Parts: sequence; C-alpha cells; structure tokens
Amino acid sequence: MLNIIIFGGPGSGKGTQSDLLKEKYGLFHISTGDVLREKIRKQTELGKKADALISKGNLIPDSLMLEILENVLSHHTDAKGFIFDGFPRTLPQAEALDELLQKRNTKLSGIVGLEVPESILEERLLNRGKVSGRSDDNLETIQKRLEVYRKQTEPLIGYYKQEGKFNGVDGVGSIEEIFNRISTVIDAL
Ligand code: AMP
Repeated sequence: MLNIIIFGGPGSGKGTQSDLLKEKYGLFHISTGDVLREKIRKQTELGKKADALISKGNLIPDSLMLEILENVLSHHTDAKGFIFDGFPRTLPQAEALDELLQKRNTKLSGIVGLEVPESILEERLLNRGKVSGRSDDNLETIQKRLEVYRKQTEPLIGYYKQEGKFNGVDGVGSIEEIFNRISTVIDAL
C-alpha cells in the first residue's frame, strides 16, 4: 500500500496536487477540509460546530477529526492506498494516524512537504478568496490560519524527520513543475 501525507501550509497546493496524484498513483484522496465543508453544506450538527471554528481559522478538536478519519478509512478498506491532505495537523493526530494505519496492518510510506514562503501563501489565498467563496479565505482568517499552521502544524515536520519520512519539495513554480518534483519523490519511496 502507498500511503502518502501531502503536507504544507494553507495555500501550499495540497489539494491541487492531491487531485493529480490520486489519478497517477490510484490512491484514495482524503481531504479533511473537504469532508468538513460537506458537513457544513449539509448543516449537520458537526457541520455547524465546524463552521464557526473554520471561519475564524481555528482547528477542529482532535477527537472529532479522528472520528471523521476513522469513518472514512473504514469505508474504503479496498483502497490501493491513501493520500492524506490536511491531516494530520497536530501531534496527537499524527500519533493517532500511525496507530490507525498499524491497526490496518499498513503504515505511512512518506510525507511530502510543500515548501512555500508565507508571503506567497498569503497572496495565493487572497487570490483564491476572490473566487472560492470560502469563509476562511479573507485576510484576517488567512493570517490566523498561517499562525495556527506555524504553531500547531509545522512542528510535525520534526516528528516525521525523526522517523526518516519527511521529504521537502519546493512548492513554488507551475502546477506541472511541482507535480513532477513530487512524483520524483514518490517514485523513490
Ligand atoms: P483545509 O481545506 O485543509 O485548508 O482546511 C480548512 C479548515 O478545516 C482548517 O483551517 C481547519 O479549521 C479545518 N480542518 C481541516 N482539517 C483539519 C484537521 N486535520 N484538524 C483540525 N482542523 C482541520
């Protein structure tokens, strides 16, 4: 099984690249942000709770995220592998993911970290906000999301480096250039 985490700050291109990677490698794409936005659209209880947190740029509690992840994994037991996009975002999530995969007799193949300077992330998200209609693509929330990334998510790089699984990739360039860089990393896993 090929299990990849596509890692990076908000606006680093995780979703765009995941869409290409899932086709090339036949992986099931789990975007926890997409799952949450679907729950918001359906106005489920969890969706209502998530809406308030997301629009302020805060993370959803780990326990809820784990429930969501376990649910998705259990519905796709026949997948050739997974691409995790937007998960994990905290250390407890990373540890729980290792355990969940272990329980399924599999493990992470590698982490691809898209490296993009913060000024470019901000610019990309502001541009996306003009068309995305996302409640979190406005300047105030973008700045909060960048701060949350720096404080809560970026430390995971150290966790995965320690496991020898982190592969940094230059996330600045054309979509195709970046896709080729990521493919080179995945082909070598
Ligand atoms: P994304 O589409 O990955 O940028 O996620 C949008 C928002 O959903 C984030 O800013 C968080 O509020 C929430 N979210 C998505 N994934 C997670 C996660 N793994 N843990 C906590 N919150 C998450």
